[in-house]
Amino acid sequence: MSKDIPALFGSLIFSDKVMRSKLPKDMYKALRKTIENGTHLELDVANSVAVAMKEWAVENGATHYTHWFQPMTGFTAEKHDSFISPSGEGEVIMDFSGKELVKGEPDASSFPSGGLRATFEARGYTAWDPTSPAFIKDRTLYIPTAFCSYSGEALDKKTPLLRSMEALSKEAVKVLKLLGNDTVTRVTTTIGPEQEYFLVDKDLYKKRKDLIFCGRTLFGAPAPKGQEMEDHYFGVLKPKVSAYMHDLDEELWKVGIPAKTKHNEVAPAQHELAPVFDTANIAVDHNQLTMEIMKKVADKHNMVCLLHEKPFEGINGSGKHNNWSLITNDGVNLLNPGNTPAQNIQFLVFLMAVIKGVDDYADLMRIAAAGAGNDHRLGGNEAPPAIVSIFLGDELTAVLESIEKDEYFGKHENIQLDTGAHVLPHFIKDNTDRNRTSPFAFTGNKFEFRMMGSSASVANPNIILNTAVAEALAQFYAELKDTRPEEMEQAVHKLLKKAILNHKKVIFNGNGYSEEWVKEAEKRGLFNLVSTPDCLPQFIAPKNVDLFTKHHILTKEEIYSRYEILLENYVKTIIIEARTMAEMLTKDFLPSVSAYAGEISKNAASAKTFLPCADTSAEEALVKSLTDSYVSITEEIARLKESIQDAATMEDMQKAADFCHCELLSKMETLRLAANSAEELIPDSMLPYPTYDQLLFSL
Ligand code: ADP
Ligand code: MG
Repeated sequence: MSKDIPALFGSLIFSDKVMRSKLPKDMYKALRKTIENGTHLELDVANSVAVAMKEWAVENGATHYTHWFQPMTGFTAEKHDSFISPSGEGEVIMDFSGKELVKGEPDASSFPSGGLRATFEARGYTAWDPTSPAFIKDRTLYIPTAFCSYSGEALDKKTPLLRSMEALSKEAVKVLKLLGNDTVTRVTTTIGPEQEYFLVDKDLYKKRKDLIFCGRTLFGAPAPKGQEMEDHYFGVLKPKVSAYMHDLDEELWKVGIPAKTKHNEVAPAQHELAPVFDTANIAVDHNQLTMEIMKKVADKHNMVCLLHEKPFEGINGSGKHNNWSLITNDGVNLLNPGNTPAQNIQFLVFLMAVIKGVDDYADLMRIAAAGAGNDHRLGGNEAPPAIVSIFLGDELTAVLESIEKDEYFGKHENIQLDTGAHVLPHFIKDNTDRNRTSPFAFTGNKFEFRMMGSSASVANPNIILNTAVAEALAQFYAELKDTRPEEMEQAVHKLLKKAILNHKKVIFNGNGYSEEWVKEAEKRGLFNLVSTPDCLPQFIAPKNVDLFTKHHILTKEEIYSRYEILLENYVKTIIIEARTMAEMLTKDFLPSVSAYAGEISKNAASAKTFLPCADTSAEEALVKSLTDSYVSITEEIARLKESIQDAATMEDMQKAADFCHCELLSKMETLRLAANSAEELIPDSMLPYPTYDQLLFSL
């Protein structure tokens, strides 16, 4: 039975088509104006949209609506209200007003605010983001919103993202005008996030407390086979996985998510999904929704979708690639080297702005990829190191070198803007040879940020990237703004040359996984902020506070609150992991160790009863190994518990985070190795939880 996919696609979103058919013409036009130009929405328009939305939602089976938002937990939040409204005589009508559409007032007191929102002012409010389409899920109308405190401080990830998109657009348009481009009025960030994930059997999952509480295994002896045969990457999809992926695609398509590519990833049981790129805020909403739907569909298939960055030791973990570019309102990708000399100049200016932005704010880019989970991946030969560098490819690097040496512009000095047209276009083709080890790679017409963890919101790197590039463009504008048009080419040359000299240290086309690079990067003076507690203090470094406040992305208070929240989140995560480990070892694992030791010694004793001269030295050695493990693991658990207590009572969050990183994690590592060695001695049938073999190869 074939399905009509074009009809299915977006069938559960309040799309432009639905809006046009349901709204009076003038209301539709007013709404489009708000969506396209970010203008204020009048209440009569909001009322009209609310009526149309409700009508459409009810026709499609919805009974409730919710303001859907993205608090600092990194997850999404929702509170459902029904459309019903009493109409006298015990009857109800389905009602929804413009006021209810544009503004909600959830009690905000239980969301993390990092001290921003005093508890006496518990109210927060959600404001409709009309640029991201509303959709229906589980018979509820979902309205994408931004979430703020009552005094207007951002409590979410969407507000600063929208602010950063505005800032970038403003600065980009100014620079484009200087370069003679008068048609552009708006520049939009586009994002295509590739999402990695694991699938495991639900019944097996339920038997492991570490998976349930932490999303990752805290110990477990490696399976005899890992990813060394390289047979999983792009391999044939197993029937169960394929059925899951089909179902997932359809669910995503219904809510207008253009899921496009799916394949097996490097590790066993690991997969990837990539959508077609979209406007940044829509893509961020879609990625949050994708992660939710991945889990929901997995549940239906009796599986669990793991989005943790490192569910299993010894094989690759999961990341997320943030593909990023800039598009003008007349449809030109500013990172696409064009066909005319003017387009090439424009391209080079924007390319340099990205390079400068990333170099100046590499520490913030690192923070965008920070988190307890992702710390297990970065620099572990499966993901880029914690050093932020940029891959440009040989051809583009050569173009920059020729600018630096005055060859690129210099040779054609008399021919106005007639340079490079024949130089640039071919590196698009040649850039397919991509360097997978680079954290930030130019891939032909966009940049790909590859440091992110799989579970993270893609809002963060884009807030930072947009703002850093906005700042670079603002500086370029300041340098060029008083230049006479006939001198512009020379001035641009000078500007590019200076930027190349200042920022070429961040360009690296070699192997980012190598030891030599770590040393070289240090020589170049690049940041190498290895862990989350190492990098977070940079969030409040004066240069970064200046950046965010100058462009009105975050206030100083908002920055400090975010820093607190990130620290707290890190500390809480590690403490939960440590507690889970202590409990799982004590209650699940150690009883197996002693039961098996008991069984072996019983067997040895009975062998002796029947045959007094029987050689039971192997059994005795095994029992000794098991009891030694039992003792040392017990002692180590006691030490871990003391450290948990210390961490949990520390008031200074930065100190607590450092302590978690140095003390708790290293004690957990010792325990993990001890448990793994003991596990290898015990038959699977005597283990209370499934092993790596079962988890990774059972689907
Ligand atoms: P790969 O795995 O080789 O990196 P994929 O095709 O899996 O490539 O993913 C590339 C992603 O980049 C897709 O989501 C795609 O839509 C996105 N992309 C392509 N062009 C742009 C662009 N101009 N802006 C943002 N993202 C883009
Ligand atoms: Mg990629």
